[in-house]
Amino acid sequence: MTTDGSRQRSWWGWGWEEQQLDAAALGGLGSMVVERFGVTPRDPVRPDLAGVDVPEPRLEVPDALAALVTADGEDRVRHSRGNAFRDVARTLSGTLPRIVDAVVRPADADDVERLLDWCGDAGVVCIPFGGGTSVVGGVNPPADPRPVVSLDLERLDAVTDVDPVSLAARIEGGALGPTIEDQLRPHGLTLRHFPQSWEFSTLGGWLATRAGGHYATLATHIDDLTESIEAVTPSGRWTSNRLPGSGAGPSPDRMLLGSEGALGVVTAAWMRVQRRPVFRSQATVAFGSFSRGLGAVRELAQSGLYPANCRLLDPHEAMLSGAAAGDASVLVLGFESADHPLEPAMARALELTADHGGRCPDGPKHRTGDRPSARSASPLLDTGTSEGGSAAWRRTFLSAPYLRDGLVRLGMVVETFETATTWDRVDELIATLRETASATATRLAGSAVVSTRITHAYPDGAAPYLTVIAPAGERDPVALWDEVKAAVSDEIVTAGATITHHHAVGRDHLPWYLRQRPDPFGAALAAAKRELDPAGVLNPGVLVPTT
Ligand SMILES: Cc1cc2nc3c(=O)[nH]c(=O)nc-3n(C[C@H](O)[C@H](O)[C@H](O)COP(=O)(O)OP(=O)(O)OC[C@H]3O[C@@H](n4cnc5c(N)ncnc54)[C@H](O)[C@@H]3O)c2cc1C
Repeated sequence: MTTDGSRQRSWWGWGWEEQQLDAAALGGLGSMVVERFGVTPRDPVRPDLAGVDVPEPRLEVPDALAALVTADGEDRVRHSRGNAFRDVARTLSGTLPRIVDAVVRPADADDVERLLDWCGDAGVVCIPFGGGTSVVGGVNPPADPRPVVSLDLERLDAVTDVDPVSLAARIEGGALGPTIEDQLRPHGLTLRHFPQSWEFSTLGGWLATRAGGHYATLATHIDDLTESIEAVTPSGRWTSNRLPGSGAGPSPDRMLLGSEGALGVVTAAWMRVQRRPVFRSQATVAFGSFSRGLGAVRELAQSGLYPANCRLLDPHEAMLSGAAAGDASVLVLGFESADHPLEPAMARALELTADHGGRCPDGPKHRTGDRPSARSASPLLDTGTSEGGSAAWRRTFLSAPYLRDGLVRLGMVVETFETATTWDRVDELIATLRETASATATRLAGSAVVSTRITHAYPDGAAPYLTVIAPAGERDPVALWDEVKAAVSDEIVTAGATITHHHAVGRDHLPWYLRQRPDPFGAALAAAKRELDPAGVLNPGVLVPTT
């Protein structure tokens, strides 16, 4: 979807072109860079499509598929990058390493099957493309001598069936977050899966990457909401039974969850949906130290209260998001339910946080009633009123990708990394990662800011998420980030944590994923890839090494 009629998608960066920072906002951001880093930022790069070298397409499409295919240059550029810092920096500087040869938009699963047959016969690589919000090189064309097509699922965008008895819905793989909620809302239902990229990412992309939504406990990953999956593989169709649970061997759905377009194309799935929440309660709790906040999060995660939102921000994140002044760590806490009032749960949660020195001077806020949500208005973490630190944090959370793009235009490195580990190691891991990221970025850039939040909390562990901002100066920002990323990724894997809690493996995390996963499992995965995709046309280089 490049336009919604009134707005145009950015061809080089995040989201809507109209919401990218204007000259005045870039000027303000530049002043902030001078103040915080003591360096003068570069003059803002002007996005210029003419600066991107788009080669002639290297393939001839058969007549039977021609109506589905475009070789338009801008379309090909849009489909040759994801939405990581690297992607934005390379697109802006016209240094995308490769451009796909064509974009294909199938109308149904039969089209997908015909396309995969042709790719196998003609020796063409096929990269499934949902919203293109991958931050791990998942949709970027690989270094492969074969021509490459991007398979964009945007025409498969409907909620085709709703089962109100079982609370499930069949949703097509190319449906974007807002489309899904718009089509479920008249039934009084919600999928309740809201990654930060919700507005521009798809069900198929979430399933293929095991995306994490922004509810902090219980059903954190899309896996937990999946009832059955329909896919097309080069070796045939794949449809699992709709089941609430099953002990019949390894799960077919689990094999496709996180398969990153390498095993099959997800065309639809039956998903567990929920009645829309009516009761909401929220609070913002301040802590004297991040470590004390962590103790409170652990206790909450182990209490059986299961808050919908339980996000701990260090002082820097709290200040940047407007949730607090910057002198305290802040826990953004929220509960929601379609069934029962939440005052007792919130009261108990605040007792637990107080035991760890948490202060909630404004008290909790409770609200009852569904909130009608326009397509443009994200329901992300709509756990309370429009006032207070939590609301400020939510607004910043949604505009952050546009700020990131502005900083990239000024020559800054701005990127995140995330992981998960068990509670016995969380404190130590965060300290190690902060130190490694900060020392490496400061050595390379002269100065750096590293901030930390906890995005998801489990009874046995948590998911830390770190952001690094540094001025690249005269250096290549992408090469600078690559060094920081390699240093922190080494530490993550050495510590026995995961190379990704929800961003997926893609091409960028592959070296560390190979160290993390058991070798026999790697061999079994490679065998599954050979069986399902014998010609190796589907997204080569993700999950399974090509050599
Ligand atoms: C600003 C920002 C915020 C983000 N926030 C979150 C977050 O909160 N939680 C989170 O989990 N991730 C987040 N991400 C990462 C990204 O949004 C997720 O990985 C998302 O699931 C990708 O969905 P997509 O539809 O954009 O897929 P794409 O980026 O198009 O594709 C991702 C991968 O899935 C494959 N794929 C896509 N569709 C299909 C299909 N139908 N069948 C088979 N394979 C397919 C692709 O080949 C590729 O390997 C964020 C990214 C950005 C830029």
